[in-house]
Amino acid sequence: MDSIVKQYLQQFGISEATQQFLGKPQKMFIGGAWVEASDGGSAEVIEPSTEGLLTRIPMGTSEDLDRAVAAARAQFDGGAWSQLKPLERERLLHRLADLIEQNAVELAEIESIDMGKSAAQARDVDIQGTIDTFRYFAGWATKLHGRTVEPSLPGNYLAYTRKEAVGVVGVIVPWNFPLQTMAWKLGAALATGCTLVVKPAELTSLSALRFAELVQQAGIPDGVVNIVSGRGSLVGAAMASHPGIDKLSFTGSTPVGCTVGKSAIDQMKRLTLELGGKSAVIVLDDADIPAAAQAVANGVFFNSGQVCDAGTRAYIHRSIYEQFLAELIAYTRTLKIAPGLDPDCFIGPLVSRQQQQRVLDYIEVGKGEGAELIYGGEPVAGPGYFVQPAIFAHCRNDMRIVQEEIFGPVLVTAPFDDDEEALRLANDSPFGLAAALYSNDLGRVHGLIPRLRAGSVYVNAHSTIDPAMPFGGYKQSGFGKDLGAEQLEHLLETKAVWITLP
Ligand code: NAD
Repeated sequence: MDSIVKQYLQQFGISEATQQFLGKPQKMFIGGAWVEASDGGSAEVIEPSTEGLLTRIPMGTSEDLDRAVAAARAQFDGGAWSQLKPLERERLLHRLADLIEQNAVELAEIESIDMGKSAAQARDVDIQGTIDTFRYFAGWATKLHGRTVEPSLPGNYLAYTRKEAVGVVGVIVPWNFPLQTMAWKLGAALATGCTLVVKPAELTSLSALRFAELVQQAGIPDGVVNIVSGRGSLVGAAMASHPGIDKLSFTGSTPVGCTVGKSAIDQMKRLTLELGGKSAVIVLDDADIPAAAQAVANGVFFNSGQVCDAGTRAYIHRSIYEQFLAELIAYTRTLKIAPGLDPDCFIGPLVSRQQQQRVLDYIEVGKGEGAELIYGGEPVAGPGYFVQPAIFAHCRNDMRIVQEEIFGPVLVTAPFDDDEEALRLANDSPFGLAAALYSNDLGRVHGLIPRLRAGSVYVNAHSTIDPAMPFGGYKQSGFGKDLGAEQLEHLLETKAVWITLP
């Protein structure tokens, strides 16, 4: 660990548990064993607030993946896991949730120093969301059943359906909410009786490796959950085409989602794709302006804008446009830019130098396209991959900064004259992950909701997420849902059984 990182950790006083975790060599979790990569390969983990070396993680190989898939297969096909009754799976999921709760501070610290995000927000959002997800799906384990059907065929039949777990699930996740996104996949899969191989993002694998220790401690049989850290282009690509994986559940960018989707479909794998977004926000003229301005800023700048459903395009009624922008700027000014472990941090560094550069490049593209940068958008003097939140005014929908996903703290805005124009602008996007409406006129709001082409619509808030509600996109934001009862359908096969009666 570099001295700049040591000083940083000392300055904010991380827990004993996190210090112990960082003090040992990081290993992958395959078939219940803690292993290095089969070729000994590893990669540096850089702490984003200091740009210093934090630790190293193993970079798995396709051989490591094969062993993980074999372990998951053995548990699914007749292993101890496959013999468990639903209530026993429920109890294990609750035990896992209890352990995550007991280790919440450590997990939040790990998430913060690995990814750059605010540790306080990680505790309240990522880790709490992870606990809630496992508890919610624990309850489902005992409630998955088929139905009996009365056929009209001549003759006598008992006809019924069975719900059966889809098999070995391959999970690939991105770096913005590392543990929580993984939990979204694991909770439902474990409730249904599936087994899993997970590939965390190269940039943020640490919480998955710590989580694996809790899986073992909870008593989940070895081989049910396997964590193979490694490169997307190698381990991720091998997962997408692995014949031993029955279902692929991918969260990440749309271009990579297209690639893995094609490989998966070649083998008729079951597939869930949770992809990119460029979510629209519509502020109607009757909105509560100060409250809406705060919600819009929080909805785009939370997690430094590295949120798939961030409200990145705000269309504001022309009659309130200038007043709204003034409120937006005044509130954004109050959001503290600070290292992730600072208890007052709202906007932490971006995850990497590459991501920082990508965001700064897009800000230049926006200026070049003629959008008016009315706030921020400058890099913050280092160390750390910080970028000031940026607000653009008077944008046009044909600009790249309006059409393309930036994945950083950049808000584009434009005025509109009536609801039809607002709808047209909001829907004019290749993405359809989410949308938000700000208004106190329920009639108008209910009229607009069905016409927005987005998987989630938030009214007078942004990113209200709960494990009981499905999450997933329209259009190029993917297909299939995570969370909610809907997710279970993607993890179950339906078998139709016909019994001919005398
Ligand atoms: P990414 O697509 O680059 O990577 C996502 C994961 O895919 C990583 O684990 C990566 O290692 C792996 N990967 C990369 N190349 C691969 C390949 N050829 N084959 C298989 N796997 C490969 O995305 P990112 O930059 O890590 O994350 C940001 C993106 O994720 C944004 O587009 C964001 O909108 C999206 N996202 C979507 C959701 C959602 O629920 N819809 C949630 C979070 C993030």
